[in-house]
Parts: sequence; C-alpha cells; structure tokens
Amino acid sequence: MNDSRDAGDATAACLFCKIAAGRIPATIVYQDDRTVAFRDINPRAPTHVLVIPRVHVPNATEAATAGVWDAVMTAAARVAEQENIHDRGYRLVVNHGPDAGQTVDHLHVHVLGGRAMAWPPG
Ligand code: AMP
Ligand code: ZN
Repeated sequence: MNDSRDAGDATAACLFCKIAAGRIPATIVYQDDRTVAFRDINPRAPTHVLVIPRVHVPNATEAATAGVWDAVMTAAARVAEQENIHDRGYRLVVNHGPDAGQTVDHLHVHVLGGRAMAWPPG
C-alpha cells in the first residue's frame, strides 16, 4: 500500500471530507477555495463553528506540512467577523490527539463565542 492509496482511503472514510464535498449535510456558514466552515452539531457556545481545510489533513502536526494554517486561521477570523463575535471576543481551539479530546481526524478549528470563556480550559 502506497501513500496515495492511504490518503485516498482516509478521505473516503472521513466525515469532514464528506461535509466538504457536500455528501453529508451541514449548516455551512462560510467557504472559499481552500476552506469550509459549518456549525458544530453539538454547540458548546452560542456561536460554535468548525473551520476545516478542503484537503484531508488529519491533525495540527500535519497541518504545517500541508501548508493549510494560513487559509484555515484566516477563514476562522473571517467567520468571527461574519458571526459578529469579534468585538466582544472569541476563542479558537484546535484539539490534537487523545489528551486534548480530538474525536474527528480531519483538522478543524473551533470558533467559539457569544459568551464569556473560562481560563484555563478544562
Ligand atoms: P474535536 O473533539 O475537537 O475533534 O471536535 C469534533 C467536533 O465535531 C465536535 O465538537 C462535534 O460536535 C463535531 N461534529 C461531529 N460530527 C459533526 C457533524 N456531522 N456536523 C457538525 N459537527 C460535527
Ligand atoms: Zn478528511
């Protein structure tokens, strides 16, 4: 099995790849040529949007190699403006791996706002 076959298999099975391709419904609030943003199905704040790269990148460690951070973080800031949470403040979260509670292995930035956030996070 070679690398391209592995990548294809991961993409075929990946929930967020399916959302990016429009094969699973989601409430999309923003998209551009490199990213898609949609509302989290289990919101943890009045505004809770997930920003993903269109390409399959499994996690934060792989994101730099794939060169997607600029597009994803820029889109996250755009979403915060669009959702009108940028003045009061918002939080961007990336969970990486089991200790952080990552449950979907396709890079996603949580955009959280609309309420005061506790610090440190749990
Ligand atoms: P994480 O725990 O950081 O991996 O975050 C994964 C997030 O994806 C969770 O907040 C879930 O509620 C969210 N999620 C899972 N399935 C869907 C879906 N089909 N549509 C929107 N959000 C989802
Ligand atoms: Zn994926």
